[in-house]
Amino acid sequence: MELRSTQKPEFVPKSWYNIVPDLPEKIPPYLLPDGTIAKREMFEVLFSKELVRQEFSEERFIKIPDELVEYYLQVGRPTPLLRARNLEKHLGTSARIYFKYEGVLPAGSHKFNTAIAQAFFNKREGVERLSTETGAGQWGSALALAGSLMGIRVRVFMVRASYYQKPLRRVLMETYGAEVYPSPSTITSFGRKLLGENPEHPGSLGIAISEAIEDVVNSGGAAKYSLGSVLNHVLLHQTIIGLEAIKQLEEIGVGVEDVAFVVGAVGGGSNYAGLSYPFMMHRLQGKTNARFIAVEPRAVPSMTKGRYEYDYGDTAGLTPLLKMHTLGHDFVPPPIHAGGLRYHGVAPSLSILVNHRLVEPVAYGQREVFEAGVLFARLQGIVPAPESAHAVKAVIDIARGIRGGEKPVILFNLSGHGLLDLKGYEEFLKNSLPDT
Ligand SMILES: *Cc1c(COP(=O)(O)O)cnc(C)c1O
Repeated sequence: MELRSTQKPEFVPKSWYNIVPDLPEKIPPYLLPDGTIAKREMFEVLFSKELVRQEFSEERFIKIPDELVEYYLQVGRPTPLLRARNLEKHLGTSARIYFKYEGVLPAGSHKFNTAIAQAFFNKREGVERLSTETGAGQWGSALALAGSLMGIRVRVFMVRASYYQKPLRRVLMETYGAEVYPSPSTITSFGRKLLGENPEHPGSLGIAISEAIEDVVNSGGAAKYSLGSVLNHVLLHQTIIGLEAIKQLEEIGVGVEDVAFVVGAVGGGSNYAGLSYPFMMHRLQGKTNARFIAVEPRAVPSMTKGRYEYDYGDTAGLTPLLKMHTLGHDFVPPPIHAGGLRYHGVAPSLSILVNHRLVEPVAYGQREVFEAGVLFARLQGIVPAPESAHAVKAVIDIARGIRGGEKPVILFNLSGHGLLDLKGYEEFLKNSLPDT
């Protein structure tokens, strides 16, 4: 069995896969606080027209503009599909473990896949500036680079605690030319109100989203908002991961129906949807019996413990209400190192798949996740982002449960590298990592 596939340019798909028409039930409409349905025009205040069209599209495949395919090629897509042979040997498993490695993208994670698409469509519609939030800085740095490539300005509201504790990602965003403000900031009225109450306010992702939206609404149309996860159009853009993986597996003799487990970490759900939805398409058509395992932190258990109900995407309640698994928009997550997994909700489409038991959620504690990350680094060389290490931990447990003789294929998404997250690894190695 081959250790890796090649990275042929023609493996980069020409269309994204939209799961919306294939879901076992319709996504409940987005609502306004008074219970009425949020109109498309409202979304067009925040997002580019083409992105809104994609958000509500019922087409199964949506064409990727040729120019955008070129950007994907330029940054090195298709990303590698590799076999974790040393991990298999170490575990003594007969399972075959493959992973898609998105950490090779500039800025270090899968987030660039949608960042460049969003910057592309906004630029084409004459938008001058994008405004967004970032937690630890993965999303902000991906969008900062996308803005730089497309010639569109980027303003990032970075969760205040991370702004001061993780200066390296801020420097990366500034290197790519973005303006970065600690959130709560003094440039929005919501930020000023919170700072007035507590000048040392640590901030949160929900607060930063509220500030970015206020900034866009006050821009008079010059600026639009960009979101790094949760919404349909964001998940759509990420499906290039799974579409590439299917072709790469085929190249080395593994058919879609041979994949037994599709595993990934879930914050808002975009990298996991990106890898898994093209496989889920085959599952929904009855062509495979693969199991879909979605991994979250025990400290932010939106899928395993959250309620399925309408909730806001942000803290201030400026976004429409989405029906999703949520811990509540005022949930304050503990300060775990996997910053990208600290969001209170998960994507509406993924929530439906969880409800129908097509996707099985599992939750892990921080220490066992870092232990898995360290093991993976020592065996395979790649230091996983703390987010991705959640997937690694689940894969190890799945492989350990395989009986001798069976040779199932386990496929997971290594959504990013952890080279800017070594602080968490340091704490783990010094035995001072809190086990939340
Ligand atoms: C942001 C991030 C995640 C979580 O976000 P999703 O939208 O659920 O993918 C996972 N891994 C990495 C490396 C991230 O940067």
